[in-house]
Amino acid sequence: MSQAYDIKIAEAINTLKELIGDKALNVTLAFSHQSEDAINISLAQKAGIDFDVFTLETHKLFDESLAYEKEIEAFFGVEIKRFSANDEQIKDLEAKVGEFGIFDDIDLRKECCHVRKLIPLARALKGYHGWISGIRIAQSITRSDTKLVEFDGKFELLKFNPLTHFSDEDVERYMTEFAIPQNSLYAKGFKSIGCKPCTRAISEGEDIRAGRWWWENPEHKECGLHLHKEK
Ligand code: SF4
Repeated sequence: MSQAYDIKIAEAINTLKELIGDKALNVTLAFSHQSEDAINISLAQKAGIDFDVFTLETHKLFDESLAYEKEIEAFFGVEIKRFSANDEQIKDLEAKVGEFGIFDDIDLRKECCHVRKLIPLARALKGYHGWISGIRIAQSITRSDTKLVEFDGKFELLKFNPLTHFSDEDVERYMTEFAIPQNSLYAKGFKSIGCKPCTRAISEGEDIRAGRWWWENPEHKECGLHLHKEK
C-alpha cells in the first residue's frame, strides 16, 4: 500500500519533470478549488517545472471556494489567473436559461457549462503547449480512460493528468502528509466541488461524484472540460 503510494507520487513527478520540464514546454495548471488541484501545484513545484495557474470564474462559485483560492495562492506563493465569460455572454445565457433551466433541460445545463466554463477555458489555454488537470480514474465512470498524458483534441494541446492513478485515500494522505490547506466545503460533506447550484454534500457511502449534477444520468455528469468524446 505504502509502496504503491510512493510509486504513484514518483510517477507523477517524473511525468511532469521529463515531459514538461526537460522539454521546456509552456504549461498552465487548472485550479478548480479541489484537493487534486492543490496536489498538482505541490507536485509541479517538486518537479521544478515552470507553470502558470488558472481558474474559471463562473460567477456561481461557493464563497468557501473563493476563499480557498486566496489561501492556496498564499500557501504555494502562486498567482491564480481568473478567466470568465464576458458580461454580454452571461446576460444572454441568463435570459435563455432562466432560474431553473439547468435542472429541467440537459441541453440548457450544457449551454450553461459551455458559456461559463468552456468559453473561458479556451481563452485560458490559448498559447500553451499543454495543461495540467486533476482528473483521476477513480473519480467516475466518465473518467475511466484517463491517461497520464494525452492529446486534448478539443483544445488542441497536450493534457497532463499526474493524478491518474491516485485513489481517494492517496489524495487524503498527500494532503495530510504535506499539511496542504483544504477547501472548507470538504468538512461540510462535499466530496467533489463545483458551482453552487450544481453541487451538494453527499452522505457516507455515496460515490464521490454523486453530489455533482445529481439529477442527471451518471454518463452525462461532466461539464465538457474533460470529455474525451462528447456524450
Ligand atoms: Fe452552470 Fe452548473 Fe455548469 Fe456551473 S456547473 S456552469 S452553474 S450548469
